[in-house]
This record gives sequence, C-alpha cells and structure tokens, in this order.
Amino acid sequence: MTHPAWRAIYRALVVRPSRIVGMGLFAGTPIAARAKIGEFEGEVIGLREARRRARGQRIIAIVELERHALDATRMKHGFRFINHSCAPNTFFRCTPQRAEIYALRDIAAGEELTVDYGESQHNGRLPCRCGAPGCRGRI
Ligand SMILES: [Zn+2]
Repeated sequence: MTHPAWRAIYRALVVRPSRIVGMGLFAGTPIAARAKIGEFEGEVIGLREARRRARGQRIIAIVELERHALDATRMKHGFRFINHSCAPNTFFRCTPQRAEIYALRDIAAGEELTVDYGESQHNGRLPCRCGAPGCRGRI
C-alpha cells in the first residue's frame, strides 16, 4: 500500500516562531490549492472532558468532533501550532471521526499556515494580531 500524498506534505511541516503570535506552523514544501495537508492529531477524549480541559485556558489545542474530541496539548508537531488568521490559507473539514486540513489556495514553501478558528471557545475574548486587511480584531 502506498502512503497518501498528504503524508509527505504533513511530514515536511515546520514549527518555528511566528510573526503573528508564539510558534507557528510553516509549509516545508509548496502546497497546491485544495490539497490535503494533514489531519489533526491528539489524545482522544470525551466531549465533556474536552470542555473541562478548555475552561480557563488561554491557548486551546482541542478540536471537538461529533462524539469525541482530540486534545493536541502534548503534541510536539502538527496543527496545534497553526495560528488563526482572518484571511487564512487553509481550512478544516471535519468528518465525524477526523479533522482534516486543506489548502485554500496555493501555498509557497516557507509560508506560515493559518486557519480561521471561527467559533472557538475564546468567544471573541482574545485580540487578533493576524494583520490581515479586514481583520475582525478579536478571536
Ligand atoms: Zn485577524
């Protein structure tokens, strides 16, 4: 069995300091528009536990799916490092089992990956520093 193409893109992602905030996730190879970049990985926990863990946290690395959640807090790589942007270059596509990430447009090697956190549990309480024209100002 051959590995799906996204594995090579995912393995090449780099975590390093971001101009937006903290650490960010960067493309290690060029990524074509609409290409799958990878899947959100983390500890599998229940939805109630996910809400308990998220309470009072400034940085949340938990994705909620239909019947369970993925907590990436302890992950050393991957999408827990993706920063929010009001003009992102990737998007999440959630199935009941998985949170997959795709490119919204062509992404150059070395470019920071960003996603619109949307209705995150911050509920607009954090200032946004994405710097995009039309930034909503809050996450
Ligand atoms: Zn913004």
